[in-house]
Amino acid sequence: MRRVGPKAGWRVVALLAAVAALASPALAQSNAPPANNGGYSIFTGTIADMTYPAYAAAVKNGAVGLWGLGVVEEHGPHLPLASDIYIPTAVLGMVRERLAAGNVPSVTIPIFYWGVNQVTSAFPGSVNIRPEIMVELMQDVFRSLKKDGLTRVFCISGHNDVAHNRAIYDGVARAAADPSLAGLRVYFVTDPAMVARLGLSGGDANVALADKMPQPPSGQYFDVHAGAGETSMLWSRFPDVVAVDQLSKLKPYLIDAARFPNGARAVSMRCGSRRTATPAISARPVPRSVRAS
Ligand SMILES: [Zn+2]
Repeated sequence: MRRVGPKAGWRVVALLAAVAALASPALAQSNAPPANNGGYSIFTGTIADMTYPAYAAAVKNGAVGLWGLGVVEEHGPHLPLASDIYIPTAVLGMVRERLAAGNVPSVTIPIFYWGVNQVTSAFPGSVNIRPEIMVELMQDVFRSLKKDGLTRVFCISGHNDVAHNRAIYDGVARAAADPSLAGLRVYFVTDPAMVARLGLSGGDANVALADKMPQPPSGQYFDVHAGAGETSMLWSRFPDVVAVDQLSKLKPYLIDAARFPNGARAVSMRCGSRRTATPAISARPVPRSVRAS
């Protein structure tokens, strides 16, 4: 190792002191209790928290890959921008538990969170990525996973924007058609409603149909976005990122289900056509738990 002379040594000390001085406000900030932040890690339970030998051993043991694809998006004044990241993270955690109980080894790929936000892109905090960029990035992740030896990867969406889900489907379909990815099967796990919105057939080889998903209770109003469903999911698993003090102030923005006989497809069209007015849709969500109280 090259010795550092006295003059150079003084420079090193000065440099460290300068870095420490610059970093101290950030360090002080990080020591302060974070506002509205539970400090949850989206890496928990994923391969990002494993060593590479442990990950390689899991793959060698036949683990299937699980990958959530969410988005950074406004979710009303009471839920975090990462709602569509936290929820699929929790879902895949539960999936892994059930697979393990059935002796199916699995690994979770760190969640994808730069997604397509067409409907709510006018809000501060909604990050909108071009679908073709998302599809390209998916190919690179799939190539890496194939290099690692994975043979099956199941993708789920954390976000209901139809363009985001179309990008996931396109990414999966493109991987399936790519000869360089032969040996790696990738699937888009989604429900019949999304299959219909995407205009796909139920027998599409790239889709693993989740047709036994619990359905929200039917009622006069759709729970479209940042409403009772998402609020409950976040509150139950990631309570510290829910701005509970906002809940009693929320006024519902009601979308009458009876006016949309085609269900989810009609709601999606309505959201899309109200592009400039979308802040109203989720700035005033429909938390049933609040309405009931
Ligand atoms: Zn959401």
